[in-house]
Amino acid sequence: MLYLDYAATTKPAEKVVDAMVSAMREFPGNPSSLHAEGRKANKRYNRAKKHIADLLGANRENILFTSSGTEAINFVIKGTHARHPDKTILVSTIEHTATKKAAEYLEDKGTSIRRIGCDKDGYLRIDELEKALRETDVSLLSLIYANNEIGTVQDARKIAAMCHAHDVKLHLDMVQSPLHEKIDLKGLGCDYASFSAHKFFGPRGVGFLYAKTKDDLDPLIHGGKQEDGLRAGTENLPGIVGTEVALAEAAKHVEKREEKIGILAGDLLSALAESSITWRLNGPPLDKPRLKNILNIGLKDLDADDVAFRLDKEGIGISEGSACSSGIIEESHVLRAIGVDDDHIGGSVRISFSHEQTKEDMERLVHALEKIVGNVGKKKP
Ligand code: PLP
Repeated sequence: MLYLDYAATTKPAEKVVDAMVSAMREFPGNPSSLHAEGRKANKRYNRAKKHIADLLGANRENILFTSSGTEAINFVIKGTHARHPDKTILVSTIEHTATKKAAEYLEDKGTSIRRIGCDKDGYLRIDELEKALRETDVSLLSLIYANNEIGTVQDARKIAAMCHAHDVKLHLDMVQSPLHEKIDLKGLGCDYASFSAHKFFGPRGVGFLYAKTKDDLDPLIHGGKQEDGLRAGTENLPGIVGTEVALAEAAKHVEKREEKIGILAGDLLSALAESSITWRLNGPPLDKPRLKNILNIGLKDLDADDVAFRLDKEGIGISEGSACSSGIIEESHVLRAIGVDDDHIGGSVRISFSHEQTKEDMERLVHALEKIVGNVGKKKP
């Protein structure tokens, strides 16, 4: 299959699988146990945590392992709210469902949530943010740094400075970032950041939260003393080792891979421009700050589910809108928030690739699209 859904998940790298299998064999002990087997596992766990922190420009104490990016996001939003129940939480209008739903959940229970809009390319409206920070007593801005549907990358440094001027903490959802930039968390200036290993050729079921300080974070899961007593549960050591190896590989190859991805993005847009298809790029152009491996293409008057279904029959896997909402036919709130029009929103598909693809793969996709476009159903009213 020509897999073009890397934003949904990536296949664990061979090195990652090998490291995880070895970790299962070599470190069967519980890192909390005081005997030799436990101490050995604990040493490996600490080494992995330190290495992950080093790779991100952070300290060992800043990293809290979770079971997913979704959990890391819930951790910071609910953990902050528990400490500051009377304050407002800010989110953008183009968040991943993890943030969107966590905010809606709190809002249903009476918490003040304020949503900050974005421009047509998905960049946060700085004037709206400034107004909200001035008018409201805010505890946290939770912001998707690199958007999983349209690729927009936000100006984190500027936004962090604005938040800090008002004594507000900034959480960045960086789940889509590690394959695409060398991350320096201290340099970015955020207070929290969420990650998920399966988005960077690591295992599923492992995520982590970076927390500059933990003073403002309520425990998420109660039980043992793991993760500094904030997130109890015996550590997933094989998964953590797999995450460490995957992140190290991502950091090592990021520049070279990103260069190739940039070329492939250009190849795909050129092939589409030369085709007979009527389309628009949803999200920023390639020369603006963005992930170049996520291209959201609005196919005029078509039905995205039908397009994805027919491409699947041709052996090509893409996603309609956001993969997390696949299976449920639901209009993308992200595309709506950036003002994608009725003619294109129902026919919008997300093509997400990696350095592993070729120019020929991009051409194959466009040829397949041209072939099926005539047969595809029209967008449902
Ligand atoms: N945030 C973003 C931007 C994502 O793309 C995803 C996954 O699609 C998540 C959060 C959730 O991560 P996980 O799948 O690890 O729960």
